[in-house]
Amino acid sequence: MNSNFFQTSIEYLKGVGPSRAKLLKKELGIFTFQDLANLFPNRYLDRTQFYKISQLEKNNAEVQIIGKLTQIKTVSQKNKKRLIAKFEDDSGSIELVWFKGHKWIKENLKLNNLYVIFGKTNWFNGQFSMPHPEMETLKTYEKKLRPVMQPVYPSTELLSSRGISNRVMFGIMENLFFESKDYIFETLPKDVLESYHLLSKKEALINIHFPQNQHLLTRAQYRLKFEEFFYIQIQLIRKNLLHKAKIKGYPFSKIGDNFNLFYKEFLPFKLTVAQKRVIKEIRNDLGSFAQMNRLLQGDVGSGKTIVALMSILIAIDNGFQACLMAPTEILSVQHYNGLVSLCKKLNISIFILTGSSKTSDRKIIHKKLENGKIDLLIGTHALLEDKVKFKNLGLAIIDEQHRFGVAQRSKLWRKNNLPPHILVMTATPIPRTLAMSVYGNLDISIIDELPPGRKQIKTVHRFDANRLRVFKFIKDEIFKGRQVYIVYPLIQESEALDYKDLMDGFESISREFKKPTYQISIVHGKMKAKDKEFEMNRFLKGETQIMIATTVIEVGVNVPNASVMIIESAERFGLSQLHQLRGRVGRGADQSYCVLMTSHKLSENAKTRIETMVKTSDGFEIAEVDLKLRGPGDLMGTQQSGILNLRIADIVKDHEILKFARSTASEILKKDPSLTLPKNKPIKMTYIQLKKYKNIWNYIS
Ligand code: ADP
Ligand code: MG
Repeated sequence: MNSNFFQTSIEYLKGVGPSRAKLLKKELGIFTFQDLANLFPNRYLDRTQFYKISQLEKNNAEVQIIGKLTQIKTVSQKNKKRLIAKFEDDSGSIELVWFKGHKWIKENLKLNNLYVIFGKTNWFNGQFSMPHPEMETLKTYEKKLRPVMQPVYPSTELLSSRGISNRVMFGIMENLFFESKDYIFETLPKDVLESYHLLSKKEALINIHFPQNQHLLTRAQYRLKFEEFFYIQIQLIRKNLLHKAKIKGYPFSKIGDNFNLFYKEFLPFKLTVAQKRVIKEIRNDLGSFAQMNRLLQGDVGSGKTIVALMSILIAIDNGFQACLMAPTEILSVQHYNGLVSLCKKLNISIFILTGSSKTSDRKIIHKKLENGKIDLLIGTHALLEDKVKFKNLGLAIIDEQHRFGVAQRSKLWRKNNLPPHILVMTATPIPRTLAMSVYGNLDISIIDELPPGRKQIKTVHRFDANRLRVFKFIKDEIFKGRQVYIVYPLIQESEALDYKDLMDGFESISREFKKPTYQISIVHGKMKAKDKEFEMNRFLKGETQIMIATTVIEVGVNVPNASVMIIESAERFGLSQLHQLRGRVGRGADQSYCVLMTSHKLSENAKTRIETMVKTSDGFEIAEVDLKLRGPGDLMGTQQSGILNLRIADIVKDHEILKFARSTASEILKKDPSLTLPKNKPIKMTYIQLKKYKNIWNYIS
């Protein structure tokens, strides 16, 4: 777009004027012609097409149907009344439903007359219904004139009460495009337009506001969504390039003795192809002069720990220290024990520091750390305390980062001159495209393969009423020598009640599973760290067969002989939590099971979560569903809502376009990083404009 013309204030547009301009600024943030052109309709009323009832699909937008009313009745439920009508055409029937205005409707609608109905359909209990349809007789319908596709613009109460109706908005748009059509400049390079058959900017804008038919509208939407994602990606990738150029990192140029020795002699298993690939990616980063900022995603049990260790060995071989931070005490201890045992034949010094480390131990650790006598420090948040000073921290690994805030991550940086390389490991897969668009400055590695020989975990859903059968199943498994987790929810807001549930559960299980045949462990957040560890160890050693716990055990715990995971009140857990919990079993050679216990009352959302768990064990598929249920703002615990403020594209629904825009943008920047090629001039101009008018195109907060 021509920047000058389109930066004109809207009060100078015909049909607007100072007072309407003031309202539009206040209510919709529209200041300039450009803002107005970018006010895209929320939806369109498509009155060009008639549907047959048999053609309806579950996710249809508004549809228009011709048919007749064959029945009307009032239905009472509790103290609410609904009016329900049967509406038929020659292909089938649907229900029309009114919750209000019964009397008028009942008196005015005529059975067996032909009507045109228009509205959104719902799918429920195997039938379509349409609540509060717009309807008129076919005769009236045929007499009226109407535009092909009516755009519906975003509005507010104040706007409509001051007379800026949708109709008026439409008129203002007509004026805008009448005056400015010829000033619309292309924002994408010609070769991109051509090779992807995209509409030009001008055609797209005109068709988004004045669509001539559904096909052109779809193409216009596609082009504008593409453009929106494309420029976000251009900005992110450029930021990333600049960032890379600016932030120097320690180059770990050599692959040394510890790494080689470990690789040749002490690797406890053959690495999977994915593990090898990821280690290579990390090696490349570490060997360059830029700081590594990498997110390592891998499903539970995919073997991230060994990747962490090999990276740590590279740092140590280059004379640097490393740290590994985990979210819980239990997990830190487990990492510590695991890594000490893997490294026992190597000459490196490993220490652990957690909230419950003794003061005397702490002092020793602080000192050794500053003297460079510790190669690897493992621990919890305790690593972030001010007293913890590394001599030369070269690599910081953060396990299960969804528990760590971004701020905490940067705190680690401040401990030495150059920032350490950072590797963040998570088993909560964020759909790749989302990760890329939100964390443009993180590189991503994915372990997309489980070590060989793992059996699929069988997942079932059982209602509380079937508890006795579940107990029987637990007994059978224990009889075969297996161990069982029983997990209770613990949500902060209802903590007291949750503890009561946990204790009640513990009691009833103790009654059912009596000593001495059965031994039971219990672990929860209110216990002292020592007691927790004691109980965990009893379970780990097989002295107890049942582990009753809250979500403390969610992350990382590894007991290969445990093959049954019972999740109580599973409807109260989020999808990624359920997936994490399930990942605690299926770590040994035996067939493992996950039982999701719920009450009979389930919300739609809960039903979807449970069904998803039963259906798949693919972490990425689960993450996609999770994303759809919760929206991107919720992901990973950090508050990301507001990071992406999209005007037309939808990060979930338009996933594919995002991927495509991303690859196009990165392809272009790879060949022409500073956008100097003549053909990329439209990108350069738009990019400069975006930066200049950031207040207007405020994509990224
Ligand atoms: P996570 O990615 O969940 O942290 P871990 O690193 O704890 O997974 O690995 C899970 C289990 O799989 C561990 O017992 C580990 O020893 C084992 N493991 C990891 N990689 C392999 C492999 N390539 N072959 C066989 N077993 C492996
Ligand atoms: Mg792990």
